[in-house]
Amino acid sequence: MDEVICLGIESTADDLGVGIATSEGAILANEKSTYTPERGGIHPREAARHHSAQVGSVLDSALAKAGVGPKEIDVIAFSQGPGMGPCLRTGATVARALSIYLDVPLVGVNHAVAHIEIGRLATGAEDPLTLFVSGGNTIVTGYEAGRYRIFGETLDIAVGNCLDVFAREAGFPYPGAPEVERRALKGERFIPLPYVVKGMDLSFSGLLTSALEKLRSGRYRVEDLCMSLQEVAFSMLGEVTERALAHTRKPELLLTGGVAANRRLQAVMRAIAEEHGAESYVVPLEYALDNGAMIAWTGLLAYLSGVRTPVEESLIRPRWRLDEVEIPWLR
Ligand code: AMP
Ligand code: MG
Repeated sequence: MDEVICLGIESTADDLGVGIATSEGAILANEKSTYTPERGGIHPREAARHHSAQVGSVLDSALAKAGVGPKEIDVIAFSQGPGMGPCLRTGATVARALSIYLDVPLVGVNHAVAHIEIGRLATGAEDPLTLFVSGGNTIVTGYEAGRYRIFGETLDIAVGNCLDVFAREAGFPYPGAPEVERRALKGERFIPLPYVVKGMDLSFSGLLTSALEKLRSGRYRVEDLCMSLQEVAFSMLGEVTERALAHTRKPELLLTGGVAANRRLQAVMRAIAEEHGAESYVVPLEYALDNGAMIAWTGLLAYLSGVRTPVEESLIRPRWRLDEVEIPWLR
């Protein structure tokens, strides 16, 4: 079969990404533009405005980087959900227009599936238990009988969001989680904070509230708070991931999503994998944060399995759950 080329658009939150992937598993381009809020967190409509203003130039640079012309694109993929409505709508609108104009099929991709698939592609993991951690998601998942099953997830905010909000209140520049990681290295004294695991699920809002109270009290070194916040949050993730690994007996453990950039979390996951005789994998940095390449690659996998998303079924799905998606390419 001839090589198939897919262009993917990611726009679930602050990142607007355009990636180009081939059926050989090559990533030809992975360009992006990220919206930075002037203050506070991501404002969905402002982010969407950023995405529509930038999408032309990000598309141009992705095509130029890949060295392919629009006529060589065989499939258009887009992140259909989950994510922020206005942001998703912007990407979906561009994807529909391209699909109609180029007269090629459209494929709606689940954002969480894409984080897992790019992790598998980039690391060579085949059937991993996956911890997917980002600004909007915290999920422990693994493939079983046609779908990525959810073994554990957050009941409230995502771990990335917890770190980001703490960082913002501490006055760190946006996005703050990497600065929390740097400061944590200078932490000396562990400050007890609420550790909340309920069954296989996690809750980070109590941990965040307590860390913020201690921060505002001015009675603690911020480095100690950064270290303690990370240690508690990552221990919680470790507990649930380890239990899922022991239960599923998966031979591999994959860490993916934006928070996978964190060295301390990588070390926690490595130790757990080692303990259970599993191979440990971490998605490379360029594919850790939201990106277009993961949408292009997952769109290709779906397309090659016969999945199509007719325009009339391409409405965005802001609450589309990972375990609702059929994964025919792993059968
Ligand atoms: P994503 O939602 O996949 O684009 O990932 C963004 C999230 O990753 C944000 O919550 C970031 O704060 C988080 N992140 C990025 N770098 C790090 C890091 N070094 N440690 C922890 N979280 C990080
Ligand atoms: Mg993002």
